[in-house]
Amino acid sequence: MSNIEIAISALKAARKIVFFTGAGISAESGIPTFREKLTGIWEMYDPQRLETAKAFKKNPALVWGWYLWRRNLVARALPNAAHEMISRLGGGARTITVITQNIDNLHERAGSENVIHLHGSLDRPACFACKRPADLTTEQTKVSEVGELIEPPRCLKCNGRLRPGVVWFGEDLPSGAWKSAVSKVQACDVLVSVGTSGIVRPAADIPEIAQAAGAMVIHVNIVDVGLGELNELMLVGSAVDVLSVILHRID
Ligand code: NAD
Repeated sequence: MSNIEIAISALKAARKIVFFTGAGISAESGIPTFREKLTGIWEMYDPQRLETAKAFKKNPALVWGWYLWRRNLVARALPNAAHEMISRLGGGARTITVITQNIDNLHERAGSENVIHLHGSLDRPACFACKRPADLTTEQTKVSEVGELIEPPRCLKCNGRLRPGVVWFGEDLPSGAWKSAVSKVQACDVLVSVGTSGIVRPAADIPEIAQAAGAMVIHVNIVDVGLGELNELMLVGSAVDVLSVILHRID
C-alpha cells in the first residue's frame, strides 16, 4: 500500500486527530516562511535575530516595524484550501484539534475553532513592561509596503512600550497552551504535522510526544522531514496538494 493509502486508512479509523501546523501551511496564502528569502528592507535581516527581547530592547522601532509589516501581510492574505479543509473535518464521532506554531489567524478565519497557538498571535499586542494586553487603533497598524522603522505605541496604563503578543526565542511558551497541546497530543490517534521544519523547540517535540503515546504521525511537507520512525509516514508535497488528496477521501 502507498503512504497515501496508509494515511487515508489511518485517518478514516481515527477518532481523535490533531493537526500540528507551521509556517508552511500558510505559504500558499502568500505568507513567507522563515526559510524563504524576504523582500525589501527585510532582506537584510535574519528573522530569528529580530525575534528576541534583546533585539526589541536594542531597537524597538525596527522590531515593531517588522511585526506591523507581518501583521499587514496576514491581514491582506486569505486562508487557503489547506486551512479550509481542516476546518471542515470535525463533527460526528471525529474530534479535530488544531495546534499551530503560526502567529497568523488563518486557521480561525477558515472557520477552525479552539485553535491552540503555541507561539502567540500577531493580533494580541501587550505591554513589554506590565504585560497588559492592548488594542491598536487603525492608525497604529499602518505600515508602508516595504517595511519601515516605527516606534511602538505606549501602554495606556504604565507608559511602557507595546510589544507583539508572540513568543520570542528564549521565552517560555504560554503554559496553558502548552499543557492543553500536550494533553490533546497524548490522547490522539493520528497527528498530522503540516509545513513545519521541526527546528523550533519545544514545539518541535510535539510529533515525538504523539509517537511516544502510540499515535501515528503523518508529516506533510515539500521536503522530506521524516525521521524514519515506526508509525511515521512522510507525504512529500505542498500542504494544499497533499491535504486535497487525503482529506476529501476520509469523510
Ligand atoms: P519554518 O519557516 O522553520 O519552516 C517552514 C516549513 O514549511 C519548512 O519545512 C518548509 O519545507 C515547509 N513548507 C514550505 N512551503 C510549504 C508548503 N506549501 N506546504 C508544506 N510545507 C511547506 O516554520 P516553522 O517550522 O513553523 O517554525 C518557525 C517559526 O516560524 C514558528 O515559531 C512560527 O511562529 C514562525 N513563523 C510563522 C509564520 C506564520 O505565522 N505564518 C510565518 C513565518 C514564521
